[in-house]
Amino acid sequence: MFGRKNKPAYWIRKTHLLRADEYECSACGRRFDKPYVQCPNCGRNMTKCKYDPTWVDEAEMLDILD
Ligand SMILES: [Zn+2]
Repeated sequence: MFGRKNKPAYWIRKTHLLRADEYECSACGRRFDKPYVQCPNCGRNMTKCKYDPTWVDEAEMLDILD
């Protein structure tokens, strides 16, 4: 159904230790290198940007936090 197409979406900001930040669409899950006004993949209007500190997990994997 197309009823969910107008559901607001937002960017989930993924920060990485060793590479540039990414912005993941909460609706379709595609990642982009910057937060667009609309998702280039699914076309939803983006309402906000949520911070997801992915780098913490990566740091733990690299064993540099303890
Ligand atoms: Zn999208």
